[in-house]
Order: sequence, then C-alpha cells, then structure tokens
Amino acid sequence: MISVSGVRGLVDKDLTPELVASYGAAFGELMCRTGLNRVVLGRDSRASGEAFSAVAAAGLQSVGCEVLDCGIVPTPTVQMAVEHHGAAGGIVISASHNPIEWNAMKFVGPDGVFLDPVTGRRLAELASAGVADTERQGGGYRQDREAVVRHLDAILALDYVDTSAVQARGIRVALDCVRGAGGTALPQLLDSLGCRVSAINVEIDGLFPRNPEPVPENLDELADLVRATGAEIGLAVDPDADRLAVVDETGRPIGEDYTVALAAETVLARNPGPVAVNLSTSMVIEDVAAGFGQKVVRAPVGEANVARAMRRISAVVGGEGNGGVILPELHLGRDAPLAAALLLGLLTRTGESVSQVVDRYPRYHIVKARVDRGRDLGAWFEVLKSRFAGSVIDEQDGLRLTWDDRWLHVRPSGTEPIVRLIAEARSSGEAAELIETARLAMDTPQV
Ligand code: MG
Repeated sequence: MISVSGVRGLVDKDLTPELVASYGAAFGELMCRTGLNRVVLGRDSRASGEAFSAVAAAGLQSVGCEVLDCGIVPTPTVQMAVEHHGAAGGIVISASHNPIEWNAMKFVGPDGVFLDPVTGRRLAELASAGVADTERQGGGYRQDREAVVRHLDAILALDYVDTSAVQARGIRVALDCVRGAGGTALPQLLDSLGCRVSAINVEIDGLFPRNPEPVPENLDELADLVRATGAEIGLAVDPDADRLAVVDETGRPIGEDYTVALAAETVLARNPGPVAVNLSTSMVIEDVAAGFGQKVVRAPVGEANVARAMRRISAVVGGEGNGGVILPELHLGRDAPLAAALLLGLLTRTGESVSQVVDRYPRYHIVKARVDRGRDLGAWFEVLKSRFAGSVIDEQDGLRLTWDDRWLHVRPSGTEPIVRLIAEARSSGEAAELIETARLAMDTPQV
C-alpha cells in the first residue's frame, strides 16, 4: 500500500527489496536536492528489517547520499537524529503496531517531521518512475550508535520531569516492550530514573509474542505482571516505541487516550499553553487543558498533521489518542520514552496513584465501528449535519460533530477501503447510539 505517508505491505509479497531500494534512491534524490546529503536510517526489530535497511542504504548511497545508520531504535530517536545531524531527512523501516508479517518505510523531512502530503506524492512518483543515473559520486555509510543515548539524555534534561525527585521515589514499574525497538530505550530510561523495573519482552528480536498494538485487549500479560510485582504503573509500547499505553496499579489498562491527557497535565502544570490533538482523541484532553485555562485545537488524524498544527499554534504539548505524546520542545513527533518520563513525573509531583489521577477526570467511553466505502460521502455528511443540527461541525478530516459532552467522527480510512465511525460520550450506550444514528443516516436518501 503506497500512501502519502509512506509505503507499507506484507513482507516480500507487497514490500520487496526492489521496492525498498527504489524508494531509498528516490528519497535520497528528492531530499538531497536541497544541498544536504546526509540521511538518517533506523528500523524496528522485525526480522525483515535488517535486509530492508541494507537495500534502503544502498539505494540512498547510489544517489550520493551519506547514510547515518542508527540500527534498531525507536522511531522518535530517528526523528531527533535527523535534526541532530542537520540531515536532509530520515527513513524509518517499521510497520509500527502492525503484526510481524508486515513492514513499512516512513519518511522524515529535514525538520524531523514526517513528510507532508505534497512531498510524499512527489516521492511516490519519483520511486515509480525510477531515478535516472546521476552524476553524483556514491555516498558514504556510517553507524550512529549514540542516537538513543542522546534521545534519553534530552528527555532527562527536560524541566518537566524532576529527575532527582523521581529517582528518590524508586517507582515500581512493570514494562512490556513487545520485543520491539522500545527494548533499546525504555529499560535504560527507567533505570536512569531510579525505577524498580520488572520487564517482559525487552529482547530486541522482533518475535512479537502477541498482537503488538498496545490496546487494552493485548495487555493481559502486563496486567498480570503489575499484579504479581505490586507495580505502581504498567507501561507498554508498540514495536517502534512512538506509542505508550498505561496499566494502573490494580492491573487495569486505563486506555491509550489517557496517555496524552496525563502527559499534558505534567507539561501544563509547569508551562500552560495551547494543546493540539487529532480529531479522534478523547475529550478528556479538553478537561485537562481546561484545568489550566487552556484550549485544545483539533487536527486531522495522522502524526504529521498534528505536528504541523502544533507548530502553527505554538502548542506546548499534544499528540494523538492512540498513546502518542508530542512535546515540541523536544521534537515534533510521537515519543513513548518521553511519555513514560512525563507520567512518572506526574506520579511523583502529585503523590497520587495512577487510578487516583484517572479518577480526577470525567470517564468517557469511545465506541468504534467501520462500514465499507463506496457510498456518496458528501450526501451522507449532509444528512448527518441536518440530523445533528446544533452540533459544532468540523470538516478538516471527514466529518466531526461535537457537543459539550460527546462527539461523533466519521472519516474515510487513509489505508483501507472503509469509513471509520468513532463516537465518545459519558456512557458507552450513548456513544453506541451516536454510531447507530450515523449508520442509519447512511441509508437515508437526501431530501
Ligand atoms: Mg508506532
């Protein structure tokens, strides 16, 4: 599947070494036109990643780029390395939360942010046309073994986390890195913060022992570990460690939407300012921001969209409801190690347990559904807008209708031929009712 945000597919079926090499060469050709010639390369721990990384590097070198290879590292580490080296861009080889048989290439611009759609489209065109023989000399290749250390040092240097206070608490943490790239960073970070860690799946071999998406139904083993060890918090990351999910001290997954909300509390308590999240993120972020007199701006779904909105409004914190926390002061990308440090800072500052923190906020319920594409979205949206007159309408990304205590978001998927329906309310019954009404409206002829 080729989209503006990268190329993703089943290993060796859709995503072949030839395709990866052609994208490597095309990315090098496109980005190095700027005069910069370094490109940072990194990958998660999937077995297919090593070979894909080698052919991507060869593709980059064939057009004269110098490759700085970070090896297996979190995605945010690559984004920070691009900025650190003043590179023309970066390539991350990771299918993120997708199962093991998938892999993907994601492309980072010189600002450390994933490519905008226009540049992404130019890259896809160049990759399919093929890069003509260039006059450039073959590029160099160097390893960058310090990228994770620099990333973690930058997190520990942030004012938002009182490192010595966290260390003094010796927080008991249960950790699950799903045998992904998080194993190169989370154990080290927690160690630096003086945590007493019980960890599972920190081997970095890509043999995911479960569905790697850190959603509640996949966190049973972590929940057991929390209960068995008496941990105060359980932390789980996805394979490329840009998303963080939390399990409370009773072993209950609190839901990924709370990651960005609670991380935002830590930041806003010290530095109140605007917040930006995507349109499908829980409204608990609005409750958190309101506590500090701040507004939340909503952006289309997708890390690059949120990152650009954050830059535009000078947001101090934000991210996505899937557990992706962005702190512009560090870099404009979702960052699980950052999120972990902010949450440990929150527990330390407030002296509360995870469940006490969660209980301070209203409890919302999100219900999701999907329907096949292939209907007239415009007509459907018109019916919804008149059916739900009185709601606040946002059409940046599909249609989002918002009330004081609930919202409905209907958006075509960027990667599958489906339309996603997401609703949130104070009860799951009310959220399900919004979904049901929207579904019925789909088949209502327009008057
Ligand atoms: Mg990810």
